[in-house]
Amino acid sequence: MVKTTLVRGLKCRLCGKSYAQEPINFCSDDFGPLEVDYDYAAIAQQVRRQDVEKRPFTMWRYRELLPLDGEPTVGLHVGGTPLLPAPRLAEALGVRRLWIKNDAVNFPTLSFKDRVVAVALSKAREFGFDTVGCASTGNLANSVAANAAAAGLRAYILVPAEIELAKIIGTQVYGAHLIRVRGTYDQVNRLCTQIAFKYGWGLVNINLRPFYAEGSKSMGFEIAEQLGWRLPQHVVVPMAGGSLIGKIHKAFQELQQLGWVAPQRYRVHGAQASGCAPISTAVKNGWDTHRPVKSPQTIARSLAIGDPADGYFAIRVIRETGGWAEDASDEEIAEAMTLLAETEGVFAETAGGVTLAVARKLIDQGHIPRDEEIVLCITGNGLKTQEALYGVLKEAPSIAPRLEEFEQLLEAGQSTVAPVRLADKQLALVQ
Ligand SMILES: *Cc1c(COP(=O)(O)O)cnc(C)c1O
Ligand SMILES: [Zn+2]
Repeated sequence: MVKTTLVRGLKCRLCGKSYAQEPINFCSDDFGPLEVDYDYAAIAQQVRRQDVEKRPFTMWRYRELLPLDGEPTVGLHVGGTPLLPAPRLAEALGVRRLWIKNDAVNFPTLSFKDRVVAVALSKAREFGFDTVGCASTGNLANSVAANAAAAGLRAYILVPAEIELAKIIGTQVYGAHLIRVRGTYDQVNRLCTQIAFKYGWGLVNINLRPFYAEGSKSMGFEIAEQLGWRLPQHVVVPMAGGSLIGKIHKAFQELQQLGWVAPQRYRVHGAQASGCAPISTAVKNGWDTHRPVKSPQTIARSLAIGDPADGYFAIRVIRETGGWAEDASDEEIAEAMTLLAETEGVFAETAGGVTLAVARKLIDQGHIPRDEEIVLCITGNGLKTQEALYGVLKEAPSIAPRLEEFEQLLEAGQSTVAPVRLADKQLALVQ
């Protein structure tokens, strides 16, 4: 098939050593992570921007820039999420031009992880795996389970024992083998590395990681195309393993290299939760590498990776683009979740609260000038992390089905439910 020639193979991100396309994720010489190596000259010959525009609006419209040899077979409807102008939130933050890239409505499992899983499981099929799986903080578990079910693949999914109920149920419902490990995500990840090699399974973020990670680029491609084929001046990205942030940068680089967008200066900013902030701490202290966090403690469980696999590269991308990183407390995360919902009607999960709370700090600190263009990457859905808002929203009043009771409420000034008052408080804080 012609398309095979577009991928040269894998390449070590540290020493540059080349490898054939195989289910492996690190260099045998220096343990550096492997990355997919493309032939951009061949890609430029084979596809033009105008061809892409005629295809259905899913992540696969950029298929020449994704690492499959044949046609995709898993996750055919993933991607194509809205880029929403956010004028009311912009006003609350005191900035001029703001957009939300809303992967909270990604199909089928309502997070950006559907993008990475679509590539990883399509690749798993090309490699001939019949059993797949992952180490996950929750969203990846949901996506592997759903996409594996639809593809008829067996799935083994390992998660830290203490994740949100919706993420447990939203994995088991698809018939996946879900195993809760009493330990941190980093311990789950190490166990999965042993399992992948012992049983020869395709674990999407372990031995399929170089292919998996490429799926994240599609979020960056979509942002650029939805802005009218140009790059935003600032993009704020939540970080767990630190992969997505690097792939959005890679997507912007590739679009410039292909001449699909004009070369433009942009800054990539990273967001973490204060209870697990190895990458933002390194950026703020000027360190080249992160120091692992042993026991993460945050309501943003999806981001709670103490020893991020791509931490070193995330720090480099932030530094090289002139971006910055910050982190947010649990209280700030929950407040930001309500602010996003009240101003733009988007209910994001805790990771979205992290992104918005951090964006607000970066704006206040001057790292993001108020008159420049900003895109916030919203990566997951709030219906999966409702626990985070327990005790934040007031109990709604309850009345008998009688007009007098309703009017009594109105008179007592209790008709406005708590979230509106929260917003007023936040607007006052910002001004
Ligand atoms: C996994 C995840 C991220 C971050 O992904 P990395 O590529 O590991 O940094 C961000 N947001 C949500 C909701 C996630 O599930
Ligand atoms: Zn190497």
